[in-house]
Amino acid sequence: MQLTMKQEVASKKVFIRTLGCQMNEHDSARLKDLLTERGYAVCDSPESADAVIFNTCSVRKHAEDRVYGKVGTLAKLKAKKTGLIIGIIGCMAEARRDEIFRRLPIVDFLCGPGDLDKVPDIIDKIKAGAGHIMCLEGYKSKIIPGFSKERKTGEKAYVKIMEGCDNFCSYCIVPYVRGRERSRPSKDILNEIKKLINNGVKEIILLGQNVNSYGRGLKEKIDFVGLLGKIDNLVSTSGGPGYVKVGFFTSHPKDAGPELFKAMRDLNSIIKILHLPIQSGSDKVLKRMNRKYTVAKYKKLAGDYRKIVKGGNISSDIIVGFPGERESDFKGTLNVVKELQFDAAYIFKYSPRPGTKAAKFKDDVTLEEKERRHALLLGLQRDILVSKRR
Ligand code: SF4
Repeated sequence: MQLTMKQEVASKKVFIRTLGCQMNEHDSARLKDLLTERGYAVCDSPESADAVIFNTCSVRKHAEDRVYGKVGTLAKLKAKKTGLIIGIIGCMAEARRDEIFRRLPIVDFLCGPGDLDKVPDIIDKIKAGAGHIMCLEGYKSKIIPGFSKERKTGEKAYVKIMEGCDNFCSYCIVPYVRGRERSRPSKDILNEIKKLINNGVKEIILLGQNVNSYGRGLKEKIDFVGLLGKIDNLVSTSGGPGYVKVGFFTSHPKDAGPELFKAMRDLNSIIKILHLPIQSGSDKVLKRMNRKYTVAKYKKLAGDYRKIVKGGNISSDIIVGFPGERESDFKGTLNVVKELQFDAAYIFKYSPRPGTKAAKFKDDVTLEEKERRHALLLGLQRDILVSKRR
């Protein structure tokens, strides 16, 4: 029996599993739209899919281990289901390109974060008999593609304003897998936001590895504060103040300052939450991390923020057990957390990322010690939150 075009289209199903950060959630949403336009329906289990795609993270070893585990469990399904296509996309595809096919021969394709537009074609090629396909290094492109006009979304949407990073923090793999920093022209961003507002979106989160350095390298003269002003103006004229709220992250302390805090205070649509990773409360460790600020500079920023943005929240990221972190360094972190009373803190145990500068340092804090420091800091942050809620 010959299938009609409509029946053929309805039979294509894709399952996408997203691991990692909001940037990955954004990329998965874009990929879903791209595949939907090519006739795929998104389904909710690998068992009912023709293609299973894992959008992966490489920032911590634990995230990569989860992918190896989860994809490995699909071996039986792949053996039973002829034609099932399995792909790994995102940062881990880029970072672990040499080992994934070896460790997971059931994987059909790898695709880096800069090449997502090619995924529908890659799947077609594999169906047509191509063997393993690797599509990487798109992060070298200067273009940051936006969503198509058909973007499907709920009340909250992520909008990418820049991608990549030039900071090269010594522990971080991002500059190697997402490439060097580049910004989207403000016109593209505003057009995307306009469409989202017309589609009923109520909360927009602007994304970038380092949003405060938005605009560098663009032909137009604009910085992040200027972009916030334009977006606030668009939101105010589209639905009135308070109708749509706009948040952003992540901010780097070396590029944040009073000008940004004043914009957060004065622009009605901007959410009063600042995510400002401190990473450590020791200058020695910050230097080895290549963070380019001191604890004193960070404290001044946090103080300025709280003075200027009355009632604003501040959250942070912290790594414990970085190479060379002594007990006295860790005590510095405990002290700064006690003093600054973050409204949220995301605390991680250091794990070396191959290819980064810190991976060459001796990982000299034992796992037990990392766990002890992690638990102490988590406990402290929990106490802070409990006392704030009283
Ligand atoms: S600022 Fe540092 S931690 Fe953040 S993405 Fe860039 S290199 Fe990584």
